[in-house]
Amino acid sequence: MSTRVAVVTGGGSGIGEAISRRLAADGSPVAVLDLDGDAATSTAASIEEDGGKALGLAVDVTDRSAVDAAVSEVSARLGRPAILVNNAGVSAVGSFLDVTLDAWNRLLEVNLTGTFHCCQATLPGMIEDGWGRIVNISSSSIHSGSAGMSGYVAAKSGVVGLTKVLALEFSKHGITVNTIPPGFIDTPMLRQTVEKGFVDLAAQTARTPVGRVGRPEDIAAATAFLVSEEAGYITGQILGVNGGRNT
Ligand code: NAP
Repeated sequence: MSTRVAVVTGGGSGIGEAISRRLAADGSPVAVLDLDGDAATSTAASIEEDGGKALGLAVDVTDRSAVDAAVSEVSARLGRPAILVNNAGVSAVGSFLDVTLDAWNRLLEVNLTGTFHCCQATLPGMIEDGWGRIVNISSSSIHSGSAGMSGYVAAKSGVVGLTKVLALEFSKHGITVNTIPPGFIDTPMLRQTVEKGFVDLAAQTARTPVGRVGRPEDIAAATAFLVSEEAGYITGQILGVNGGRNT
């Protein structure tokens, strides 16, 4: 059981909620950060009902002062974060020529710059403690591309590049940095893209060797391993969790 304090962004829904629950079940006090403060609070309350320790905070990961304030509050109330899971994300679909600069910037801001802010806000504490684990949730589209998702795929590919650089810069401090690019995982985000007619889930499932859509718990299990003590020799890696669609 780990008692290291974890911060999970976008922890109020889908994959982030499952990661928050799993890390709490494994013993970590978990700070659930989400743009949707009610969702963050409700995930944290439900973790506490199950006997875990958690704190829910409304935080927009694109707002650096809000991220810094949240890290201070987490340190004061739960302890200094040793584990960071950058999971908050947004997606958008549309032909490249129709993408506005505002829409492009928003995708980069949340998915990539949000990861930058949260890493910069937590790394100094990890360095002082000589131990840290960062897991960045990217997307299986970094392997395959995805027509109609230029800003999203560019941002998530940036997350992979950032992961590799941070792994090189901080491994000497006992900090590992890895990325999990999920395949199709049954969450509100996926259901929205299915409803818009952008993803044909039956066709995608047929193309998935394990023959099913992923569950948030599949990503939570891989995250739990990467943040564990025994994963200390694994850094700078891309751990695909996609039912075998991308190898
Ligand atoms: P989700 O159910 O929509 O959850 C994402 C959470 O992030 C939501 O609670 C959302 O809050 C929050 N969020 C959005 N912008 C934020 C911001 N600026 N600051 C803080 N929180 C913010 O989506 P999900 O499917 O679980 O996705 C989790 C991660 O996995 C994302 O990074 C996504 O790109 C990635 N991913 C998902 C899939 C999939 O198939 N589901 C596949 C590949 C990658 P609001 O609801 O208030 O917006």
